[in-house]
Amino acid sequence: MKSDQNYKICTRCIMDISDPQIEFDENGVCNHCHKFDKDVMLYGYKGKETDRELRKLVKEMKEYGKGKEYDCILGISGGVDSAYMAYLAHKLGLRVLAVHVDAGWNSEIAVENIQKMCKALNMDLHTIVIDWQSMKELQRAYMFSGLANLDVPQDHVFLAAMYAYAKKYKIKYMLNGSNLATEGILPGAWGYASTDFRNIKSVYKKCGRKQPIFRKYPHFGIVKYFYYQMTIKRIKILNYVPYSKKGAMEVLEREFDWKYYGGKHFESRFTKFFQSYYLPQKFHYDKKRAHLSSLVVGGEMTREEALKEMDDVDTYTMEEMLEDRDYILKKLEISEKQWNKIMQAPNKTEDDYASYKKLIVFLVKVKRLLQICKGRVKA
Ligand SMILES: [Zn+2]
Repeated sequence: MKSDQNYKICTRCIMDISDPQIEFDENGVCNHCHKFDKDVMLYGYKGKETDRELRKLVKEMKEYGKGKEYDCILGISGGVDSAYMAYLAHKLGLRVLAVHVDAGWNSEIAVENIQKMCKALNMDLHTIVIDWQSMKELQRAYMFSGLANLDVPQDHVFLAAMYAYAKKYKIKYMLNGSNLATEGILPGAWGYASTDFRNIKSVYKKCGRKQPIFRKYPHFGIVKYFYYQMTIKRIKILNYVPYSKKGAMEVLEREFDWKYYGGKHFESRFTKFFQSYYLPQKFHYDKKRAHLSSLVVGGEMTREEALKEMDDVDTYTMEEMLEDRDYILKKLEISEKQWNKIMQAPNKTEDDYASYKKLIVFLVKVKRLLQICKGRVKA
């Protein structure tokens, strides 16, 4: 693609036309860069002003937590963002329930990281092991779906389990590791929401082996999702501090002997393979490009360093990728012949399956209107 004369790449970050919806201004700067700047103005760390907001938020959480076991809940995967979030919550004096959802693909390093962190922070840890049979069948169906986002079964179950736990322990505040510093840039065209259970059911109906898997697969429908959203406050806590990936890793390594596992979301062996092999080979885009672009625009690395890292083939070699592929195929009961068919089949989008897309757009508008009426969001 790079040798193509129509190839275009942003002059500020490293996003390129592998995002089909990308737009460039007269200086060759992409729409993601402009959105990033706008988001930083709205939600980024602004010194004392943000410090004040955080203090207020922590006070609110502690007030609500009085007489209850916990002030907040957080999901911990063993990755940089969630581990640092746990550290930060502890430093803020919050009583945290840490929940880890094991969907069958944990890397050993990730599990060790989680145990080390929670022990050192004296944090209660609950591990929810998802019924493997259900997980396997659903992930297998996604492999045959022709969809880009094969992580939907994992992402949905993670959130469903977290919400269920929050309700069980009457916790109103859920700390969320999403942040501008490492995830500020992510094209909308590169995936569909994992919250649409109708879409998930439809994929399974068309591509699955028709077993009653949803009895043991924690999930939420659209009504429940909006109920959760209105009653549980998700807080992107890392946006309230001057967060940097490099700085966070230094703290974690120094204080907890935490270990890095080589890449964004590589704490799951499935996600590592899906993002590094399946997406670039079949859909011709690489999520690493968006992650590195976030770090460039956020000032954590130079554009040249990011370009160099895009070409790096040593961190996750082809040999290791193929080893992971064989492991995954065996685990999901997919033959090599079926795999080749999967890779050659036409690519699909969520619109090829039933979904709540229109309803979600409508409900998001309603929710926003309600928030504007309450004065919580600027119109
Ligand atoms: Zn850009």
